[in-house]
Amino acid sequence: MGMKIYNSLSRQLEDFVPLNPEQVSIYSCGPTVYDYIHMGNARTALVTDIIRRYLVYKGYNVKLVQNLTDIDDKIINRAAELGVSAKQLACEKCEDFFQDSQRLGIQPADVHPKATEHIPEMIDLIQTLLDKGAAYVIDGSVYYRVNQFAEYGKLSNRKPEDLLAGARVEVDERKEDPRDFDMWKAAKPDEPSWESPWGSGRPGWHIECSAMAMKHLGETIDIHAGGEDLLFPHHENEIAQSELATGATFARYWMHVAFLKIDGTRMGKSEQNFILLRDALDNYPTEVIRHFLISAHYRHPLDYNQESLTKSEGALRRLNNCLDALKKYAGPVEASQTTTTPLQQAVQEMKAQFTQAMDTDFNTAQALGAIFTLVSAVNRSLTSDSEETDPAFAQAYQALIETCQVLGIYGPDPQKSDDNNVEQRDRLVHLLLEIRQDARERKDWETSDKIRDRLQELNIEIKDTREGATWKIVP
Ligand code: AMP
Ligand code: ZN
Repeated sequence: MGMKIYNSLSRQLEDFVPLNPEQVSIYSCGPTVYDYIHMGNARTALVTDIIRRYLVYKGYNVKLVQNLTDIDDKIINRAAELGVSAKQLACEKCEDFFQDSQRLGIQPADVHPKATEHIPEMIDLIQTLLDKGAAYVIDGSVYYRVNQFAEYGKLSNRKPEDLLAGARVEVDERKEDPRDFDMWKAAKPDEPSWESPWGSGRPGWHIECSAMAMKHLGETIDIHAGGEDLLFPHHENEIAQSELATGATFARYWMHVAFLKIDGTRMGKSEQNFILLRDALDNYPTEVIRHFLISAHYRHPLDYNQESLTKSEGALRRLNNCLDALKKYAGPVEASQTTTTPLQQAVQEMKAQFTQAMDTDFNTAQALGAIFTLVSAVNRSLTSDSEETDPAFAQAYQALIETCQVLGIYGPDPQKSDDNNVEQRDRLVHLLLEIRQDARERKDWETSDKIRDRLQELNIEIKDTREGATWKIVP
């Protein structure tokens, strides 16, 4: 069976056939960098990570682009509150985003384009739309003329009447049609701005994604992903801009991740009910958080609560105990077998069920079900008199490691690796202190000071005492 993806555009499961069999292209709408990311943002980012990992597991080459919105009202307002520049705030929050993503085991995208580094591409795209009569300028702002795109509303399945009603909430009297949206915002005093043919200003959010997606992935993308809140108007507008400009299909499969909720409401910054990813990661290992976030299919809402995380913790403990117990049996997996034991059969079933679940619109909940059914089967077999030579154990070990790695719920124990790193660091500092002591005995003050100063830069402070040099980490 091939892969199927639920396409929000057709509102049905479709066979997944990439445009270019050599490379699948994915564009994922990334964060607006004005604060740390919360668990809801993490859910959407993790789903993209899993989609990519699974496609690679299936043998595809994948190019993933995830943008960073580094200019926006929210950034400007927050920066003003903090008394820093919008650029400085965005830079800091970008770094925090990369750090948090890495802690969650999210592999970096192939390209992380920043909006502020693609202003010329956005200006070109807006100019193309103006030349086609699909945009108009008012007082230095440029608006998209929605009635020029006959298919407007096809993604959100909204009829013009509904769109009009929705858009009237905040009508800008200057617009020709309430549905029209801005692609270029004329500069306001004290806001960052860039020069353009229409005067200085800054881009609108929707044009950023159209321009960056097309720059890095071409006119047509295979998969475009984001949270369900982005379906309208963001993605609807991305389609309108891109397809009118190029005449080509913008994205072939639209995937939308359902909300992570807390007490039944969407987790969000404006709702003030969010749990930061970094705080969750301080309390639970990466694999537990990943397990929790993929414990529901991505199109189903998921509720953040203590009990679910405790359940994920228990599940991970069972998995790791099982893998630890299997480790001693691990070895080359025998291919030719005349008879099949029940455990071998369970391994085959798990692999088939895992693939079927993931092939069917990346159903991680069912894929986990298959993995944990095998864990139970292994545990049952291990308690009876286990034959160390039974190749089923090696096969089970290998199958579990392989599938858990696709989901990113298996990794070396972070606690243990931290201990190793600390030990290694201590040894290296001691080695440097020894070299420094030798230098001091030779009266080579230059080397001795260099070692002290460079360690200081790394927040390691050296103190010379009568008993020799001591060191400590300083904040
Ligand atoms: P933002 O920084 O608000 O632009 O959001 C970044 C990404 O996280 C977007 O793809 C959003 O759709 C997604 N997102 C925001 N809140 C949630 C939530 N509660 N559950 C799932 N995804 C979310
Ligand atoms: Zn976007």
